[in-house]
Amino acid sequence: MSQFPKSPLMGQMMNQPLLISSIIQHASRYFGDNEIVSRRVEGDIHRYTYRECHQRARKMANVLKGFDVKLGDRVATLAWNGYRHMELYYAISGSGAVMHTINPRLHPEQIAYIVNHAEDQYLFFDMNFLPIVEAFAPLCKTVKGFVMMCGRDRMPERTSIANLLCYEDLIARHSDEYEWPLFDENSASSLCYTSGTTGNPKGALYSHRSTVLHSYASAMPDAMNLSARDAVLPVVPMFHVNAWGLPYSAPLTGAKLVFPGPALDGKSLFELMEQEKVTFSAGVPTVWLGLLNYVGQNDLKFSALTRTVIGGAACPPSMMQAFRHRYGVEVMHAWGMTEMSPLGTVCTLQLKHDALPEEQKQAVLEKQGHVVFGVDMKIVDAAGEELPWDGKTYGDLLVKGPWIIDSYFKCEGGDVLQDGWFPTGDVATISPDGYMQITDRSKDVIKSGGEWIGSIDLENIAMAHPAVQQAACIGVFHPKWDERPLLVVVRKPGAELSKAELIQSFEGKIAKWWTPDDVAFVDALPIGATGKVLKNKIREQFKDYKLPTA
Ligand code: ADP
Repeated sequence: MSQFPKSPLMGQMMNQPLLISSIIQHASRYFGDNEIVSRRVEGDIHRYTYRECHQRARKMANVLKGFDVKLGDRVATLAWNGYRHMELYYAISGSGAVMHTINPRLHPEQIAYIVNHAEDQYLFFDMNFLPIVEAFAPLCKTVKGFVMMCGRDRMPERTSIANLLCYEDLIARHSDEYEWPLFDENSASSLCYTSGTTGNPKGALYSHRSTVLHSYASAMPDAMNLSARDAVLPVVPMFHVNAWGLPYSAPLTGAKLVFPGPALDGKSLFELMEQEKVTFSAGVPTVWLGLLNYVGQNDLKFSALTRTVIGGAACPPSMMQAFRHRYGVEVMHAWGMTEMSPLGTVCTLQLKHDALPEEQKQAVLEKQGHVVFGVDMKIVDAAGEELPWDGKTYGDLLVKGPWIIDSYFKCEGGDVLQDGWFPTGDVATISPDGYMQITDRSKDVIKSGGEWIGSIDLENIAMAHPAVQQAACIGVFHPKWDERPLLVVVRKPGAELSKAELIQSFEGKIAKWWTPDDVAFVDALPIGATGKVLKNKIREQFKDYKLPTA
């Protein structure tokens, strides 16, 4: 961490560290009656208040003390979005240990690699993950105990895990008398590994300071715009970049929290949203696809939902329009990454856009948006020279800010910064007024005859076709052009669509040479552990594909 010169005259303000524990303390004192509602892995609905959450988090902090977990020790979780996971968020980080959230959709060997790399001391898991934990537990070298997040009645009669403990037993046995300790705000608070589509996963190690600042910034009106009048349903998992910070920013503002547990299908989400009068939600596009299908097929309407953040992958304009025009739900397109805690930009309109015709407003909203205060960005060419903000020139996107990593955990991968900026691996344009638009991930860009074709644009056009459910565009080998675009498409159930028809629909929408050379129809696209389409898998699948133009 860099050192800055000290002024001879320092400010005379209280030096109170920005700590995660202060968030739950605040929520409990000032929004004590506001609810946290969870669909549990047990299947039923659980509800309690921020006050009770704080009380149980203090009990859990005493449990960790009894385990002799010390400042900086890593404690892992393998769990869905739910109240016990929330208690751990505060008990672990609040007591000075490091909350290591693990993605349960990874392979058991990958999980074991991460646990060993992080040197986790204890591991908490949802009861439905017992078979997975049994599979990787023998490979874990540092874990002293496994805690199953359920009551005694749900504990298995037999298990291969030697040191298996019961969450509710531990809570019941411990007192809620606990003073949250004070320590340096730059201390590590939580750890999240990137999905590691290439090579081993690397850890982003967040600090208390970065997390609290990110919580303030992400709650602001032109970011997620959260308040104590909201009911917030994070579909984005708590094991994926801390559910985009919502378990912190919701209690910071007093918003009611609604956790969906493992039930992420359209029907379950819709029912929970309606039952709990959810006003705000957040997730990746693939999840919303399921929700929109369910709502559309059953001719339903949202009665309380007013806005949703869609990010993690480009939101197809057709999805945005369905939410906005059919259901009156505002979509905030957001961009970020694990290394950025994750929030970088959110797209909202300004006063100056009011007079624009609807079509132009829509065009702005389809971009990934404006930075939130704290983050700065620029685009550069291959030599690292800054490129103009003209909305057309694209280049490698670099960012900096107090909630962006300066190195990976254990300095894996060495120095990652370029002159103090973090290279995101994304390619983007920036408009003169600072609206950023992602063209592609640099590794997904299609390189045709020395020029670049952005796959996101092509996918968006394909997905606007009424017969298309999902589309991904990849570059495949071409003897003359090196690469040409191949569109891989899942048709809507029962829909008829020919290759020629789909290619025809690109006419007039993009430069002619961007038009995909061919279409391949498939039953499904490969989806990764965080709900995103896996382009590398598709590329592998089509690596020997012969284009008709080749
Ligand atoms: P992983 O690499 O583990 O999938 P992240 O969730 O950190 O992890 O993904 C970050 C990447 O996701 C970004 O670098 C970008 O390529 C992509 N991404 C995130 N949000 C958007 C968005 N709104 N539009 C396009 N791409 C996005």
